[in-house]
Amino acid sequence: MIDFHTHLGRFGRSTPEERTYGLEAPELVCKMDEWGIDKSVVLPLSDSPEGWYYRASSDDVLAYCNRFPDRLIPFVQLDPRWGDNSPTTDFSGVLAEFKARGCKGVGEVIANLHFDDPLVINFMQHCGAARLPVVIHAAHQIGGTYGLVDDIYLPRLEKLLQAAPDTIICAHGPAFWSEISSNVTEETRGGYPADPVEGPGRVWELLEKYPNLYGDLSAGSGGRALMRTPEFGWEFLEKHQDQLLFATDVMRRTMERKDIVQLDYFADLKENSRIGETAYAKITHGNAARLLGH
Ligand SMILES: [Zn+2]
Repeated sequence: MIDFHTHLGRFGRSTPEERTYGLEAPELVCKMDEWGIDKSVVLPLSDSPEGWYYRASSDDVLAYCNRFPDRLIPFVQLDPRWGDNSPTTDFSGVLAEFKARGCKGVGEVIANLHFDDPLVINFMQHCGAARLPVVIHAAHQIGGTYGLVDDIYLPRLEKLLQAAPDTIICAHGPAFWSEISSNVTEETRGGYPADPVEGPGRVWELLEKYPNLYGDLSAGSGGRALMRTPEFGWEFLEKHQDQLLFATDVMRRTMERKDIVQLDYFADLKENSRIGETAYAKITHGNAARLLGH
């Protein structure tokens, strides 16, 4: 299995106890062995100001992954505001440099800007030109949170997908996964709705319409979206099997198997043949391997 979303680093805020909660590369590899995960994508967070609480720069992540080149796959984090905070900033040089140093993608993009902000569109177009997939976190508001921002029903994400058709965008976060169901509301879209789904939401429509969109199934947002109504989750995985990525978002050394809802969920998918073998293989490693060139 390939885990498309993990973090290494240390927490930089709050209590001394919380500051010990980070995760180091050897600890992540131990967890991967225990959980049956062959390779993990590691995403830096602190090259955007919104990621101040979890310190790991792109340079740190490249160094961590160098210690386990067969197991850990480095992504680099760039921020759409870098350079001159301008919609014409040229990211090609810095992307080429990171690519030469071994990065396989960009993210986690957590800048608290609108999806269709000219800064974001310019940045994403450069990532696409560099042929690097991008992992993004989707949020529901400007301020008080992190992640690219959309309105209900994701109109801004759609504009970005149209403006950057050559860029692979792997989305997760509450504002994305709450839209798995048509009964999303202004009240539920920023959180982790657990009520039964009503019918296919905008995520289904956008995945169908835009082959450059992928769903990153990590964290509470991705896991709970699948579990709200089990049969609906299995149907979703089967239908969009070419554009979904198994992922956990593990980031603390204290996280155990029981804290990662995706692990038991995927074990059940396999043991009880909830989805076809082909779909299972694509979602747990085939799609990721294709995007990473591994
Ligand atoms: Zn993350």
